[in-house]
Amino acid sequence: MDINKLGEDGFISFLQSRFNAHLPKNVLAGIGDDCAVIKQSETRAELITSDLLIENEHFTIGQISPEELGHKALSINLSDIAGMGGTPKIALISLGIPKTTDTDWLKRFFSGVQKPAKKYQVHLLGGDLSKSEIIVINVTIIGKAHPKNIRYRNGAIPGDIICTTGPLGNAGAGLKILQEEISLSEKIRFPLIKSQIQPDPHLKIGNSLAKHPEVHAMMDLSDGLAADLSRLITASKVGAIIHVENLPLSLELQEAAKICRWDPHELAISSGEDYCLLLTIERDAFSALQKQCPFPLFAIGEIIKDPKSLTYLDHGKEISPPKGFDHFLNEDMR
Ligand SMILES: [Mg+2]
Repeated sequence: MDINKLGEDGFISFLQSRFNAHLPKNVLAGIGDDCAVIKQSETRAELITSDLLIENEHFTIGQISPEELGHKALSINLSDIAGMGGTPKIALISLGIPKTTDTDWLKRFFSGVQKPAKKYQVHLLGGDLSKSEIIVINVTIIGKAHPKNIRYRNGAIPGDIICTTGPLGNAGAGLKILQEEISLSEKIRFPLIKSQIQPDPHLKIGNSLAKHPEVHAMMDLSDGLAADLSRLITASKVGAIIHVENLPLSLELQEAAKICRWDPHELAISSGEDYCLLLTIERDAFSALQKQCPFPLFAIGEIIKDPKSLTYLDHGKEISPPKGFDHFLNEDMR
């Protein structure tokens, strides 16, 4: 069977069935969450995550500078640590690069890596370098957390409020602007492009949310709401209802959508790379937590009992489910 029929999620299920059955007791999460989690002691667990960025698949030279690429490569991995409530500590970066690559390009790439590394106190401790036809970037991050303060995808409970920690669709709009070379005023264009090429991982927010026992499930939003929420409800064996009119849309996205005749809700649901957090909170605790948090929490729906049922309501009326991004199934979404 071709991998594009199995899809990324199908491939992950295959790996889970092979490798997750007989894990050592101190492995709290194996394949299938934002990070693998290994318990070191009663007060400390290690979080490990690894990601690939491939030229012409994830980025296009000419649309992103080497500094921005380095910044993004580290940041999107840090976002997986944020998705579980952890604190990043160590990074390993391996590169495949064409033999004609200018050393200045490499210096600029690692200057970009240094920015979020410095901001979040992450130390680059190793990696590898190899010759390649195109640029291939692999980042591995090791982080830590108190085992009690780690949130997984499988913790959602019927009745929970579904929230995001940021607006949705900005990065997807930024990508469309870059790919289709759309001209818009700088006021609208700049924040959307910035969301696409320089995401800022919600590490402090994730860290703070994971300390609240009322936060039941959490992950980062990398492949879009539709794809990532369906992963969360599958892991939690529950369903979800999304109220489309409550999806947080930035003013810039609304303006760009009006000018370019995009459906902003479709971008908010289906486009990826927003790198904010998706979480579920106990219904009775939601309002108090929302008031208490120094950052925005946008309520977008609720968890229901029916396993795997994902319904989108627009002012109470059901709309057809949009597709989420899968690296193999829906290439046209990018
Ligand atoms: Mg993730």
